[in-house]
Amino acid sequence: MSRKKLPNVKTQLYIDGKWTDGGKGTHPLHNPATGEEIAQISKANKEETQRAIDAAEKAFEEWSTWEIQDRVDMVHKIADLIEEDIDRIALIMTLEQGKPLDQAKVEVERGIEDMHWSAEEAKRTYGEIGTAPNGHKYEIKKHPIGVAAVITPWNFPFSMLTRKLGPALAAGSTVVVKPAAETPLSAIVIFELFEKAGLPAGVANLVMGDASKIGKVFTDSNVVRKLSFTGSTAVGKLLYEQSADTMKKLSLELGGHAPFLVFEDAPIQETVDTLVAMKFRNSGQACTAPNRIFVHESIKEEFTDALVKAVKDGVFGNGQDDGVEAGPLINQEAIDSIDDQLNDAEEKGAKILYGGGQLTDNDLIKGTFYTPTVIDDINEDMEIWREETFGPVFPLLSFSDEDEGLKRANDSDYGLTGYVFTKDHRIAEKFANALEYGAIGLNNTGVAKPSMPFGGFKHSGVNREGGHEGVDGYLETKFVHSTYFE
Ligand code: NAP
Repeated sequence: MSRKKLPNVKTQLYIDGKWTDGGKGTHPLHNPATGEEIAQISKANKEETQRAIDAAEKAFEEWSTWEIQDRVDMVHKIADLIEEDIDRIALIMTLEQGKPLDQAKVEVERGIEDMHWSAEEAKRTYGEIGTAPNGHKYEIKKHPIGVAAVITPWNFPFSMLTRKLGPALAAGSTVVVKPAAETPLSAIVIFELFEKAGLPAGVANLVMGDASKIGKVFTDSNVVRKLSFTGSTAVGKLLYEQSADTMKKLSLELGGHAPFLVFEDAPIQETVDTLVAMKFRNSGQACTAPNRIFVHESIKEEFTDALVKAVKDGVFGNGQDDGVEAGPLINQEAIDSIDDQLNDAEEKGAKILYGGGQLTDNDLIKGTFYTPTVIDDINEDMEIWREETFGPVFPLLSFSDEDEGLKRANDSDYGLTGYVFTKDHRIAEKFANALEYGAIGLNNTGVAKPSMPFGGFKHSGVNREGGHEGVDGYLETKFVHSTYFE
């Protein structure tokens, strides 16, 4: 087993086509699998953030008037460069974020798909001709929206960014990006490739540093016409409020708390395997992760036994090591938050069937690993029912009646994703219609695709990314009414 060190990668801000040291010094970046410091990252002050916005404003004048095919070619070129560099990018992501290398690679592949798909979709920005009275013409035109500010989380630090950058750049927007403090390098590598691809200066700018200060410069700016944010519901709500004054267009991709319903006719082992794979992905740190697992009472015992066995077999470790299925949590706070949820649930009557607590075997103690955990008999009074659980925890409950299951599955402020496992088409259709979630997996968990809209109902967000809506989010709509003089 030979673990690699951090490859050569920049650590600075990127403003107006230049790599720049930030005016606020640096902050240390740690590998969550080992606790080791791996880099010092530049921090921007308010003036540098403003400079990045100014550069994006200036660059917009030209970028937005490029021939669409030229912009599309540029986005494809960037995607191709990412593909050539996939091994370095995946390693960087594993080192700063912790996920296993194969999952990091899948994430980069997803990012490449997003870029190619958005580029092609941007070509189909046709506008419309409306039906008009004689002597009139009604036209709907689409225009690039202007400067977009982009804020992204640490859990999918690459694909959450490409999901925004692909459509924004192809549609003719210019951008200022602020990635999460824990995972700046996965964003920096994209900017290295922007430079290599010859993206004009100012079209894409990168600032890192104090999130609330940078966020305020973004939201206060009248030049920034659009804010695209992926992260927690709490911060999303704050940015929503802060954006009111400058009336920004918003895409808010926020938290989730997915129900996963298993009916009596679902194939047990296959369903368990799908559930475990989904929950071990990124160690459960995903907005789409199943967080309340409803199992029909008639199969509950058999299902639970199979689940506990599969969870016990899970291989947790350093994402660079062979055979590792799940890496560490992002930091100590993440461990504490799961401990708190589990303690609260136990106090209120839930039973831990397996796991609980930090994983401390061998050198895992140096990182922030969590023991995969199965907890049974959760209910509505527990924090684990209401709050996102960002870790490899399987909270179980049983249900006996379809309508009861449906009502309880919808009992959440969140509304991002939901999953139903059954061979009964009537039940599948009923739940696909009635679950109040933005994406539903029927007998699968593949709910995020570049060509399909992704986003949440209720407190899980505003607007959609992906699909036509992803590109449309970076366009303004204009109605033009023409009449003609004799
Ligand atoms: P977070 O704490 O909300 O942070 C997200 C981003 O917002 C980071 O870049 C963070 O910067 C920044 N931020 C924090 N406070 C800010 C402020 N006052 N103003 C402006 N920016 C601010 O979320 P996270 O812990 O990184 O990510 C996990 C969350 O993202 C979960 O809730 C998850 O469900 C959600 N998520 C949703 C989707 C989706 O598509 N719906 C996808 C992935 C993740 P710093 O890192 O510098 O603090």
